[in-house]
Amino acid sequence: MPHQPERHSIRRIVLPSGRSIEVVRFYLTDADVQGLHICPQCDSRLVQPVEWAQAPQGFWELVLQCPNCFWLDEGVFDQDQVDALEEKLDEGLADMLSDLGRVTLANMTEDIDRFVEALHADLILPEDF
Ligand SMILES: [Zn+2]
Repeated sequence: MPHQPERHSIRRIVLPSGRSIEVVRFYLTDADVQGLHICPQCDSRLVQPVEWAQAPQGFWELVLQCPNCFWLDEGVFDQDQVDALEEKLDEGLADMLSDLGRVTLANMTEDIDRFVEALHADLILPEDF
């Protein structure tokens, strides 16, 4: 949905590479704000930084990539945007660890069930240990 920002600010910063850029920051309503973790191409919520460097005046230069459609882009973002992305990355890591725990438990349960079946069928012998 197209939007009309109500106002914006422009700051000129010099990157570690020596390149000078203008950072235009638009002030949008909350509904318009989309986190850096959301892919603008496929709407995946798994966008992650693949390269980053601290830039002057509290900015960060990030290369972002979507693992779903391989969208790749580079940009300069302020500390609040990077903090929000880091929070989403932490949530994603917590979700993955939780899923890993559930899969590990399911696999262990299957292993134990197979071991019990083998014991009942006298397929486990002392020389197996
Ligand atoms: Zn994508």
